[in-house]
Amino acid sequence: MVTIHWTFSRIPQYACFSIKNFFRKCHLVCRSLTYNHFLDQSYIADVCMEPLFWFVDNFTYTIGPIFVVSVIGLTVSVVIIAYWIGIPYWWNRNPIICILLLIVGHWLLLNISFHYYMAVITSPGYPPQGELIPEAVSICKKCISPKPPRTHHCSACNRCILKMDHHCPWINNCVGYGNHRYFFLYMVYMVLGVLFVIVCGFDLAYTDIWLTPSDIDDPELEGHSVKFNQTGALIPVTDVPHLDSSLLDDEPAYNYINPWRRRALVYMALINCGVLLALGMLSLWHSQLISKGETCIEANINKAETVRLKQLGKTYSNPYNFGRKKNWKIFLGLVQGRTFVRHVLFPSAHKPLGDGLKWHTIHDEDIDEWP
Ligand SMILES: [Zn+2]
Ligand SMILES: [Zn+2]
Repeated sequence: MVTIHWTFSRIPQYACFSIKNFFRKCHLVCRSLTYNHFLDQSYIADVCMEPLFWFVDNFTYTIGPIFVVSVIGLTVSVVIIAYWIGIPYWWNRNPIICILLLIVGHWLLLNISFHYYMAVITSPGYPPQGELIPEAVSICKKCISPKPPRTHHCSACNRCILKMDHHCPWINNCVGYGNHRYFFLYMVYMVLGVLFVIVCGFDLAYTDIWLTPSDIDDPELEGHSVKFNQTGALIPVTDVPHLDSSLLDDEPAYNYINPWRRRALVYMALINCGVLLALGMLSLWHSQLISKGETCIEANINKAETVRLKQLGKTYSNPYNFGRKKNWKIFLGLVQGRTFVRHVLFPSAHKPLGDGLKWHTIHDEDIDEWP
């Protein structure tokens, strides 16, 4: 006969064990039901970003024209303010410098306008439909059609793009084989343009925006005729170079600076600094990618391949990386006698190398003689 001994003092211990066991089983069930062999940080990030991808896929093409109109509107507004405030300011300071700045400014404006227009209207390049593509390396699961090397499917355009870099809502177009050069040079000239406006307008903006009431406590300002800025500060006339001092003798000693002028300068400061920061970083990143002979999409693929092959004890090398100098030459199309001065510093509509379907690689035998 079995005798059961109840020990009340051990009940909490049993209870604790049972609860722990219950939660351990629940955890195991959860893990079993949600197990994914491919689960990693980037997979989790992809899942979290899914709503954003859905929005991009469904609305990018619809809101694209609004982005394009915004870019044109912002650019035109900056140019108008530069004409309205910048040119009279520099003309009063030094007419010769003003003429030189006008030449440089219009050269930048010409390049910005040309490259933006071409990036918007030039097709990024699509694989031919209904034709045999001998170069095809895979099949697009969405288009159910052959995919040449470096081609990727764009969810916003809903079609395959040759040497796809990314879909850019700001140009309402994909950046790919046909318009990558225009897109990149637009960014570079835009960065140079805003840098030009910031450098030339710095003194002007400093005088009109940043002089505060504390400045008038400066004993050196005593005896100067003064003007109010929008914060109520009194600005000495000698610190306002854009004002023609000969006219001031007939004016009252105190006067308000046009409030719209100050608002325009604040607007210019915000827009130009924002664009400089955003496009400056984007241009630097794209420069690095071009130097390595890869697109934004290929950068991710190459990174993953490098890690994968490293685990197998092998070294991965990008088949389209011909070295920094050659990569830039190919990207800018500086072959067949084309020069940097004529074809990069000035607008040029020359086509990219090849046809976007067949790509030379570092493994080709005659690669040293190409292009
Ligand atoms: Zn496709
Ligand atoms: Zn696209």
